[in-house]
Amino acid sequence: MKKQITCIVCPRGCTMTAEICGSEIKVTGNSCPRGEKHAIGECTHPVRSLTSSVRVTNRQDTMVSVKSAAPVPKEKMQEIMGMIRKAQVSAPVSVGDVILSGVYGTDIVATKEIA
Ligand code: SF4
Repeated sequence: MKKQITCIVCPRGCTMTAEICGSEIKVTGNSCPRGEKHAIGECTHPVRSLTSSVRVTNRQDTMVSVKSAAPVPKEKMQEIMGMIRKAQVSAPVSVGDVILSGVYGTDIVATKEIA
């Protein structure tokens, strides 16, 4: 099976082909080893960084932007978004505050200051 993958590791955006033969994955089209690593990850355990926002309960019409501290499994994105939609936080909030902890091996942290 062949899979076409655009590398997102750097702005060059190489178009790569990963050929999956049993347990072996042969990658072509990458310009550097980082692309090969990314392509293999996309074939075996794809992950994505996640960004969203969480309601601030004690400020009217206020949301705080959040992100995953590390990439999360791509197949769990919908589930994690559901957890984020249900989450609430009270101000003050500082950049880096943990909003949800232990989410598939990482935390959801604030990326905005709310005084
Ligand atoms: S393969 Fe290397 S050069 Fe190409 S986009 Fe990925 S990181 Fe950049």
